[in-house]
Amino acid sequence: MKRRDFSKGMLALGLATPVVLTARGMSEGSEPTGEFFTEPARKLPIRKADVVVAGAGTGGVVAALAAAKQGARTVLIERKGYPGGTITEGGTALHSFFNLWKAFPGVEKRQVVRGIPQQIIDRLAAIGATSGHAEMDMGYNYDSVCTSIDTELYKLVTFQMLAEAGVFVCVNTLLTGAITQDGHIEGVIAESRSGREAIMADAFVDCTAYGDLAAFAGADFTEPNDYAVCNSIGVGNVDLEKLEAFLVENDALVQRATGRRYGMDDQVVRLQGTTARLPKEFHDAARSIGMSMVTTTVHDNYFMFIKLNLKMKEKATDRDAVARAELDLRRRQYKALELFRKFVPGCEKAFMARTAPMLNIRRARLIDCDYDISHEDVIEGRHFDDDVLTYGFHDSAPRLQIKDGGTYGIPYRALLPKGIDNLLLAGMMITSDHRAHMSTRNTVSCMAQGQAVGTAAALCSAERSTTRALPYRDLRETLERDGVYFEG
Ligand SMILES: Cc1cc2nc3c(=O)[nH]c(=O)nc-3n(C[C@H](O)[C@H](O)[C@H](O)COP(=O)(O)OP(=O)(O)OC[C@H]3O[C@@H](n4cnc5c(N)ncnc54)[C@H](O)[C@@H]3O)c2cc1C
Repeated sequence: MKRRDFSKGMLALGLATPVVLTARGMSEGSEPTGEFFTEPARKLPIRKADVVVAGAGTGGVVAALAAAKQGARTVLIERKGYPGGTITEGGTALHSFFNLWKAFPGVEKRQVVRGIPQQIIDRLAAIGATSGHAEMDMGYNYDSVCTSIDTELYKLVTFQMLAEAGVFVCVNTLLTGAITQDGHIEGVIAESRSGREAIMADAFVDCTAYGDLAAFAGADFTEPNDYAVCNSIGVGNVDLEKLEAFLVENDALVQRATGRRYGMDDQVVRLQGTTARLPKEFHDAARSIGMSMVTTTVHDNYFMFIKLNLKMKEKATDRDAVARAELDLRRRQYKALELFRKFVPGCEKAFMARTAPMLNIRRARLIDCDYDISHEDVIEGRHFDDDVLTYGFHDSAPRLQIKDGGTYGIPYRALLPKGIDNLLLAGMMITSDHRAHMSTRNTVSCMAQGQAVGTAAALCSAERSTTRALPYRDLRETLERDGVYFEG
């Protein structure tokens, strides 16, 4: 496509001239009036469970499976129509089930996350919905393996696993409140088209990424706003081999992994390029829309997760600022598509095959927990007396790597919000230090955290214990029995 045609296309969509939006939202007249309406009190029907897990995302799916595995009557509340969360919408690959052995000659290759997260991968593999643990053959200072998934089949497979485990899955249901007394959660309020109800339980797990349940229950939190938000696109009708050749020709290929793709082994499943070495017009345009050139895929004609990043000034919990960002990101997605069509051979007839239903965050609320994992804990590879998992990946590698290609542990107390005695957390809402968070927030860590908190919540319910009174020995033995790997 010629540059003039490209610009004409953007003009036709009204994308060349940014629309000016009002300060608060999309249209005039939406300002609050300053008056108030008092909602009348309502009687809500009550449902009872042993464990409630809020959010069926990366961590929540595993938490609910873990709780159900211990025999707990488990309710899982998810605002969307499917489980999966950011693992199906934001990340480019699952990082990482392994330590960074390839970057450290002589270091043993270890699969450090196993248990339920690996069982999910096994189920995906059985239907050809994952690359498997694909090894990097280039750029392995960043990671030794990456695990790519078919995101749509991930939703199906995990939904099936939850149903088989007997989890009561409430999709299209929003968690809207907590019923608390003296630092103890009695129940949560959930709202769907079937109405509003109270779900009472012994133990609760917050895997909402935003820390909604913890915030409703009165936990202390901050909102660091230290990352860009993103809505990535899946680009269809493209040629992966031609993309690789394009990156190689421009000396721009920095990472490559091979694994299973469309039923065939030893296929390219991950490519990362640096736009700095691509034609200037491409590079400048890519930078202006926060686009990165990294994809993993399990399909022949598909680039997964081309990221469009936007750094918001406001917090990701500000509805009206988020509305503006949602529109801005969708404009960026269109521009990205046009760039692929214009510059990348094999992409002339590319189309946008998927977008996320809403923008993805890397962090919103940071919940104040009994222990705050530090940068030193991560890179020094520290383990704790109350480790609940082992992890060995850092997203800032090769700049920041865990010492000697080793691992660190996440202690149980890092998942306990201060001041509440029956709530556990898993996912991106823990760890205040940005550099440490660049490790703990990654998908496979969130999954492993999910197994820890789901198991702990079920044990708390069974033993009529608060989270802090739960004997660590019981938790550790149960996790080990269920396949969790420990080095501490
Ligand atoms: C753009 C981007 C790229 C990334 N790239 C990578 C990568 O390449 N590799 C990697 O390993 N990690 C990556 N990450 C990080 C990783 O994907 C996330 O940190 C991780 O998936 C978060 O898991 P989670 O369980 O905390 O949250 P989520 O997976 O987001 O789950 C939260 C769930 O809670 C639900 N929910 C929220 N509020 C409510 C409510 N009130 N009621 C009911 N349900 C609710 C949501 O709908 C969602 O399903 C990336 C993240 C982003 C945003």
